[in-house]
Amino acid sequence: MAKRDYYEVLGVSKSADEKEIKKAYRKLAMKYHPDKNPDDKDAEEKFKEINEAYEVLSDSEKRATYDRFGHDGVNAQNQGGFGGFQGGFQGGGGFEDIFGDIFGDMFGGGFSNFGGGYSSGVRRGPTRGADIRQSVTISFKEAAFGKKMPVRVSRNEECETCHGSGAKPGTGKHTCTECNGSGVITEVRRTPFGNMQTQTVCPTCHGEGEIIDTPCSSCGGKGSVRKTKTIEVDIPAGIDDGQIIKVSGQGEVGDKGGPYGDLFIVVNVKKHPIFTRQGFDVYIEMPISFVQAALGDELEVPTIDGKVKYKISEGTQTGTVFRLKNKGIKKLHRDSRGDQYVKVNVDVPKKLTDKQKDLLREFAKENGEKVSEGKKSWTKKINDFFS
Ligand SMILES: [Zn+2]
Ligand SMILES: [Zn+2]
Repeated sequence: MAKRDYYEVLGVSKSADEKEIKKAYRKLAMKYHPDKNPDDKDAEEKFKEINEAYEVLSDSEKRATYDRFGHDGVNAQNQGGFGGFQGGFQGGGGFEDIFGDIFGDMFGGGFSNFGGGYSSGVRRGPTRGADIRQSVTISFKEAAFGKKMPVRVSRNEECETCHGSGAKPGTGKHTCTECNGSGVITEVRRTPFGNMQTQTVCPTCHGEGEIIDTPCSSCGGKGSVRKTKTIEVDIPAGIDDGQIIKVSGQGEVGDKGGPYGDLFIVVNVKKHPIFTRQGFDVYIEMPISFVQAALGDELEVPTIDGKVKYKISEGTQTGTVFRLKNKGIKKLHRDSRGDQYVKVNVDVPKKLTDKQKDLLREFAKENGEKVSEGKKSWTKKINDFFS
């Protein structure tokens, strides 16, 4: 089944602001929430669809990418393929945040009301690792033609010795005796209003409910180690300054066996001395002499592929723009290319030899022009004025 447009899913316009999106999401999420529609497969699917749409549209970065590239958002897998923004819903992070935020104030209680895994940070199950942002700088040409490049990323990886458990191999964990494995300490105090119950995170096990007998010596019991890794990233041809490439599963390691987060590569593109870019079109300005402009000429125009010949006709005016079709930048994930626009500027020579001046005077005479040559006459006029 084809994926529906996220805006359509939430029933909002493309220009909807954060508030409208949140409001639309709330309404739909309440309507299709599994608790309200038990055993209704359709509602469940809808609920997932709504959440996925919200996950993207509520995140300005993801939304911008979606607006530009649709479901095939810039999402370079490690192998260089392009998927979509899958996994937002199952992913953990974003999903919990949305629910903590929206359902928290909607039902006045915690997410735990829904039997989900969210209960104030104590004894959490596996959680997805955090995402990492890393920026790279590439040249104008590299952006135009794409590039495979190594990106060094410092991240937490699962400890190879204990496979993330934090316990020395061969040793185990025991239930925390202070909290009996619940991860929280409950205190009951008598007050004039009755019994007051307070819960705090168990200080002995830090809410884990269990204690490692002998910590793994490689990671000190954390289950993860900091490593610097070089990841080969496929920068697709046509990428532009400020765009983001998602490399799935190359972020921080998850907690308690949870999946890795994602790596987001922010691409900075250096300015080129002669080419500028707008979308997939390339713009250059080219100086030509007034003789070339007047008589016409065959120009050698620089393009990103090298020089191409272009004939300008007799009497070309300064500021004229011509187009070289398909000489622009390859469109992202498409086979077509943009165009190159060339603006010619007629250069007026600043220094002339006496012979050139004579030729120009001759030219003016032929033209019936009377030229009272520049500075001299100007100073003369000034002098006349004051005398
Ligand atoms: Zn370890
Ligand atoms: Zn404890």
